Formats: sequence, C-alpha cells, structure tokens
Amino acid sequence: MEKTLEQISSLCKRRGFIFPSSEIYGGLNGFWDYGPMGAELKRNIRDAWWRFTVQWRDDVVGLDATIIMNPRIWEASGHVGGFADPMVDCKDCKKRHRADQLCEEQGLKLVRDGKAWKLPEGCKCTACGSANLTEPREFNLMFKTYVGPVEDDSSVAYLRPETAQAIFAQFLNIVPTSRKAVPFGVAQSGKSFRNEINPRNYTFRSREFEQMELEFFIRPDEAVELICGHVATLADNPDLSGDPQEDWGWEVWHRYWVEQRLKWYRLAGLPEQDLHLYWQKKDELAHYARACVDIEYAFPFGVQELEGIAARSDFDLTQHQKHSGKSMEVMDDRLRLACAAKSDEEKAEFKAKVVADWTARGKDAAAAEAFCDGLFQGRYVPHVIEPSAGTDRLALALLCNAYDEEKLVDSKGKEDVRTVLRFSPSLAPVKVAVLPLVKNKPELREKARELYRSLRRRWKCAWDETGAIGRRYRRQDEIGTPFCVTVDFDTLGEEHPELKDTVTLRFRDSMEQVRVPISELAAKIDASMEL
Ligand code: ATP
Repeated sequence: MEKTLEQISSLCKRRGFIFPSSEIYGGLNGFWDYGPMGAELKRNIRDAWWRFTVQWRDDVVGLDATIIMNPRIWEASGHVGGFADPMVDCKDCKKRHRADQLCEEQGLKLVRDGKAWKLPEGCKCTACGSANLTEPREFNLMFKTYVGPVEDDSSVAYLRPETAQAIFAQFLNIVPTSRKAVPFGVAQSGKSFRNEINPRNYTFRSREFEQMELEFFIRPDEAVELICGHVATLADNPDLSGDPQEDWGWEVWHRYWVEQRLKWYRLAGLPEQDLHLYWQKKDELAHYARACVDIEYAFPFGVQELEGIAARSDFDLTQHQKHSGKSMEVMDDRLRLACAAKSDEEKAEFKAKVVADWTARGKDAAAAEAFCDGLFQGRYVPHVIEPSAGTDRLALALLCNAYDEEKLVDSKGKEDVRTVLRFSPSLAPVKVAVLPLVKNKPELREKARELYRSLRRRWKCAWDETGAIGRRYRRQDEIGTPFCVTVDFDTLGEEHPELKDTVTLRFRDSMEQVRVPISELAAKIDASMEL
C-alpha cells in the first residue's frame, strides 16, 4: 500500500509515539518529543543497537560522555571552522533555505567557487518562485552556550553536533582501561544538536536528535603488511561474514562494517528492497576520507540517509594529537615483535616503498620516514572506520515500514480496515498484552494479573481489561504489540480440566489464535526476538 507521512504522523500522535515539542506553546521548529510508546520504541532501538554492537562482540567497548565538552575539541575536529551549511534567503518572501537542498529540489547543483558558494543559473525560491535570492553564505550548525556565570568569549562552549568526537578525546583513557588492542572499537549513543537551517520531513531532520556511533580503530595498512607480509583487499574476495582476519586492510574493514550494519538493519526489520547503498564519489569525499557509504532507506518522502559509514584514516586522532599535544600512538606488540624479526635491509626496503607511495600521494617524505620508524618500534596512530547512525531516523524508518492498513472482511461479509504496526518483536514498544476475558470474575482476573506480573519482569507488557476482546486486539495492533494473551474461563479449568492453565495466544500479523499452556508462553515469546 502507498503510505504517506501524514498517515504515519497522525497515528504517532494518536497512539503516543511522537508529539511536537512544547506543543501547548505552539511547538518549536525542529524539536520533537517521544510519548509513552515512542519512548519504549527508542529505548528498544538504543538497547538493541548496544547489544548488537557492543555486547555481542569481543572487540567493542562503550562510552557515555558529556554533551558539553571543552570547546578545543571542536577546534581540533574542524567543526568550529567548517561545520557549516550554505544558506540563502529569498529577498521577496523572506524564506530561508539550505542552498544545496534548494538546488537539488530543482535538479540543479550548487557550485563551489574557491571558498565561496554560488547559486547556479535558474535557481529560484521554492516557496514563492522568485529568483531574487541572496548569495549563499556559510552558517555554522553548532549551538553555542556559555559555561559558568560570565558570558564572554572565554566561556563559550558548544552542544555536541555528534557523539563521535568524545571517543577520540577519551581515546587515551579508554585504551589502558579497556584492555583492548587494535583492532577494537568504541561505541556511544546519545543526544546531538545541530541548528539545522531547514528542519523537515517530520523527525527526519531535527535540531535535537540521537546518534548511535562506533569508532572502530584499525591498524594502518603498512602495519598489516609488516605483520602479515601482505594486505588483503576486496580483490582477494575475503569472507566478510566470518570473523575479522589479521591481514585485512582498511578497504576490507570498511566493507565488513557496511555488511555488519546492513545485517543490523535487516534484523531491525527493514526489508532488503528498501535499503540502498550510496557510495560517495571521489569529489564528494571529505579530504581525509578514503571511502564513505550511506545506508539509505526508502522513506515515503524519498530515499534518504539512515547512516554513514566512513573510512576516516588517522585524521581524527592526529588532529587531537596536534591540538592537545598528547601522543595518540598505541603500542602494538604483534607489530613490535614482527619488526624485531626483520633485518635492516628488509626495513630499509620497506621504508623506501612507503616513502615512494606517500610522496606519490603528495605527502611529505620526512613524515613517511618518521611513520616507518614508529612502526618498526611497534607504534602508530590508529586509523578508524566510523559507522554513524541516527536513532530518530531509524525510529522513523521503522514506523514507516511497520505501518499497514489491512482490509478485512468479517464472517458476515462486512468490510473493515485494520491499522497495524508490524514491528519486529524485539523492537516493538510492548511485547505482550495480557487480557482477562471478563473483569467481573475475580479468580479469572487474579489469574491474569498473576501472569501479567510474571511476564512484565522480562518484557514491557500491557494490561487491558476494558471493552470487547476484538476491540482490545485492535488497540494492540495499532501500537504494534506482537502477542496478545487472553485468559478465559478455560484457563481456570472449571469445565474442562484438561485446559487448566492454558491461554489463547493471538499473533498480531496473522491474527491466528492458538491455545498454549502458560508454562510455554515465555519460551515462545523469547524465540521471536532476534535482537
Ligand atoms: P546531512 O548531510 O543529511 O545533513 P550528515 O551526512 O551530515 O547529514 P552525519 O554527520 O553523517 O550526517 O550524521 C550521521 C547520522 O546522524 C546521519 O546518518 C543521521 O542518521 C543522523 N543525523 C544527522 N543529522 C541529523 C538531524 N538533523 N536529525 C536527525 N538525525 C540526524
């Protein structure tokens, strides 16, 4: 079925998933709140991502850093100088646009002229059609604030525009305390803030949002070569579904993480045909990036980015090394031992090769030599692969994917439409609804309460005793509850002792109902959870 953002946002409002922030005061553009169901959904996404990325692996640890950090971090990262979007104003209707998006909407491309941006011929305001637009100017997206009682230049700080930088800034604390050696990763999820010029598409582009980011540190290819004698590339057809291998170069690691992240989205319930990969072209890449791929999802408003996975070389740690004056090098024992076993000739030959390679890429020969000398002692600044995802974007994608209106015909031939959110059970806000068939029979109600109390220790459960059972099922369908459990007279076993302690288990998607013993319920529910 065709789904529109209006249908989805209307259900989200009605069923307590998403509300405009500060709604009683007219809201605030670019800010959204998650209601009772949305809060559960987002928490499930965050927790499942953590399990998949950190808990189920041996080589990733976590971090929970502050939102406001020393502003020098953002100087080192390049955000103070360069985290800006080009902005244009319509001089007639006063509407403000992000220049690249304005061009894109009209099938045009914004032009970079040295440091300045230029609008291409024919670009118009999409709100009023006027061609009377200002020249594009850069607008820094970071929210500024002041730390402490004095508001002056020395107290300026920023709300983080990404969670990733804290991982680099804490690298030197994490390495010795985690007892991990490269290759290993650090994951963090949390709030980020960007003063977007034009928030839009519901929660897709917000000014306050959450990210789930991983910095996965790897050896520079030169270190891999010294240890393994060669560097595996994609041309070697490495097996990306098995365990990572020591001879993998950055290219293989990058592709491995693309595959891992696709696996995550599949487990989260997004169908293969709605997931797309967009490989950034050479001229679109940041100067330090070797490759970047966006995982995109077919939203009702177009195919748009869910996550970016970048191979960022040693750019970030090197920047922090320069700006903080602290060495970001790690000591790699495998490398040190491999080099100790090499002859001086072998090392000289290796060095000559690296110098030739670096200078061919426009880099400094002296830097290449110093880098090799470090490697021979087992030292280097790690490179990094960065899968960076948006929690709110995934929540929106899951809502769009789950939304369904199903036409039904009842036994009397009457047509009806069932609205249902087909979430994967692991991410559904409520896993099980416990429904006593009637509420005026105390033994039956107590039996149902007892079951509810035991299930809710493990899963978020709902209790609903009001209205006809069919209506109650429909209410659960609308919030995506995968299982409904009805406790009825047979559960008490008064008339049919053989049915004592059995319940009706009703499945959301098929609406099938089966009779199961209470003792088998938990295992059945558990078996449906993939994340
Ligand atoms: P864009 O080009 O769309 O502004 P970006 O490519 O700069 O975004 P990244 O900096 O790569 O985005 O951020 C990583 C992830 O964080 C994105 O893939 C997205 O899921 C999420 N994200 C970024 N900006 C926003 C936002 N304004 N609202 C919601 N999620 C966001």
